[in-house]
Amino acid sequence: MRPYDEALDQLLNDVGSIADVSSTSSSGSDAEPNAVSVPLSDAVGRVLADDICSPINVPPKDNSAMDGYALRLNESNAQNQWSVVATRLAGDASELFVNPGEAVRIMTGAEVPDGADTVIMQEDVIRDEDLIRLKSEKGVDDHKVKENIRPVGNDITEGRIIVARGTRIDASHLGLIASVGIDSVNVYRRPVVAVISTGDELVEPGSPLPAGAIYNSNRYFLLPMLNKLGCDIIDYGTLKDDKEVFEKNFSEAAAKADFVITTGGVSVGDADFVKIVLDQLGNIDFWKVAIKPGKPFACGRLSKTSDDAGYLLGLPGNPVSAIVTFMLLARPAIEQFSGQTPKPLSFLPGRVTENVRKRPGRMDFQRANYSMSGDGQIQVTPFNSQSSGVLSSIAECNCFMVLDREQGSLEAGAKVKILPFREWL
Ligand code: AMP
Ligand code: MG
Repeated sequence: MRPYDEALDQLLNDVGSIADVSSTSSSGSDAEPNAVSVPLSDAVGRVLADDICSPINVPPKDNSAMDGYALRLNESNAQNQWSVVATRLAGDASELFVNPGEAVRIMTGAEVPDGADTVIMQEDVIRDEDLIRLKSEKGVDDHKVKENIRPVGNDITEGRIIVARGTRIDASHLGLIASVGIDSVNVYRRPVVAVISTGDELVEPGSPLPAGAIYNSNRYFLLPMLNKLGCDIIDYGTLKDDKEVFEKNFSEAAAKADFVITTGGVSVGDADFVKIVLDQLGNIDFWKVAIKPGKPFACGRLSKTSDDAGYLLGLPGNPVSAIVTFMLLARPAIEQFSGQTPKPLSFLPGRVTENVRKRPGRMDFQRANYSMSGDGQIQVTPFNSQSSGVLSSIAECNCFMVLDREQGSLEAGAKVKILPFREWL
């Protein structure tokens, strides 16, 4: 049994990244290029193939952060009266110069007119017809030159990298890219992933449940999680537990897909052929990881000769084991392959609210809920069933409580590491 960290390192090493393959090196003439240009509206969830540099300053000119009056505070000395000579709305860039003793009524977002060095907010002045005075008894001493002015380039300076290559684009990146006027970006191609459920007992939801059968649930959480990772999915449905059927479908899927993800059939039962067929068609990189749930995970290239053949990620059949190994092993492998800059797991420190049973030997990913207690500490309550068949433990929890391999049982109040998981679902 491989320790989790070693298993993940080896997996990441074996799958590589689209970012490291030059699009011209591919031998097939119909090979897809590794990067494509997409309009901004289609870019969410895709991985950036180039750094994005800003062609402009944002804001492009000094502008007002408040509704108020633009004036020359620097030359005001003891003066406490200005005459309002013009009004400037956001979007108005007409020529305007502010002389000493003059003020321009200005709205939030409007360019600060030449000559003005400060915006006094409207709440700080008393206006009498076309004259304004400062409310404060200390007059100009209560104000600072440049106050309420957003300086040019305050958000983004021209030429700066605003989103780095390898970033999976989310809504905030989209807004940032739009704010510098760019409307299309280069992204890596989507990884192609074949999804295969295995098991004679599986029936699709919507049909009656014969004796001995169970509904296929794995397929229904895998597809949306893969969608979220920006994959192109080939859905093979469910295969009967038959070696020849596996051989035929695995080799076909391996020719079309970058990854072939199976669930079930990877343990030591009489009908567990996934590992056997992987060994036959290609090579097993490793089988069994010292984690709980999710021990019987197998992976390897589905060809003995071709590095381009699909890489098999054989997830266990038990739904909780399948989802946990997907999150902890398959997800980082697909992310890295997609060109995304790898991110290590980010744990948070918490304290467990009750006694926890744990046997040394495997790293536990117990399902739990965390929340902030009154004293600002994270308290962690484990779910009442840690069985790998209980899928509600994932649906009703928000984190894994991660217990190291050699850790034994814990008493209530003990320190634990947690790993929030809902963002992956
Ligand atoms: P296996 O490793 O194939 O023996 O599967 C382990 C357990 O997971 C068995 O109880 C299977 O019935 C169950 N299982 C396998 N595949 C699925 C699936 N797609 N959805 C729900 N349960 C499954
Ligand atoms: Mg099975």
